[in-house]
Amino acid sequence: MDHLKAVLADWVEESKKLAHHGQVAAYIPELSHSPHEALGIHITSIEGDSVSAGNCGTLFTMQSISKVFTLIMALMDRGEDAVFSKVGKEPSGDNFNSMLKLELVEPGIPFNPFINAGAIVVSSLIAGDGPNDKKARVLDFFRRIAGNDSLDYNHAVYRSESDTGHRNRSLAYFLKENGVLMDDVEDVLDVYFHHCAVEVTCADLARMAVLLASGGVDPISGESLIPRRFVQIAKTFMITCGMYNASGEFAIEVGLPAKSGVSGGIMTIVPGRYGIGVVGPALNRKGNSVAGVHLLERLSSEFDWSIF
Ligand code: GLU
Repeated sequence: MDHLKAVLADWVEESKKLAHHGQVAAYIPELSHSPHEALGIHITSIEGDSVSAGNCGTLFTMQSISKVFTLIMALMDRGEDAVFSKVGKEPSGDNFNSMLKLELVEPGIPFNPFINAGAIVVSSLIAGDGPNDKKARVLDFFRRIAGNDSLDYNHAVYRSESDTGHRNRSLAYFLKENGVLMDDVEDVLDVYFHHCAVEVTCADLARMAVLLASGGVDPISGESLIPRRFVQIAKTFMITCGMYNASGEFAIEVGLPAKSGVSGGIMTIVPGRYGIGVVGPALNRKGNSVAGVHLLERLSSEFDWSIF
């Protein structure tokens, strides 16, 4: 990691200058208070070494990054056939909350588990006796994979999104109308808005990511936490759909499985080597952290990280 330690702080400062080209997401009102100029990164190796730089103490909500792990939970709870009878495996090329392509894979089935419609279906597939039980299971799983017992929901962000999430509500009702969603719409959205509101730091994201980088085995305890097949599925969706409608460009410029969220987080992995958490709340036009993407492009090209 010495090569990273030598450059990371300087490169973060240089990428940070791009933040003013971006905008903080404001459609969830509470997110508009996020620190516009911040950029932080934490890199954890599968041997357990770490390096961090910039504003890595910044707390932020996982938003769409949580969809990687709720997908894994649904796969572990229900199996592949049940999950993929209700959500497709294809990139949509649309932005995250698209309603346009809901009906194109199969009648009424969302394109993939990372667009909001797909992620709402996935939330409904998490096992549990009602929304409170599901939320408790989500938090328990996220705490376990982050190795951090104090992870929690940010209730202000949850409330802010729940009060204003009319588009997600309409997506959910459309899915219910089509018979894809069986549960009560408000119960499903309660789980969905909560898992988007799990609050983390870059270090938490890096720790979650390193589990994917190591094929599902916790590199510190040696315990297998996620079946390898489900890690493979998650990583493939991260490549094809993880960066919204910039996933193709990110695959060319960075070439790593990644998932971003509207709070400005990006979780990415260098398979077999590193888990990486980034936060930079100012977003580009495609909804990805403008400074975060710049920093990852530089790191990947300099250290030849692309898997392609
Ligand atoms: N909770 C957010 C929403 O549903 C997640 C969006 C995102 O991070 O892409 O709008």
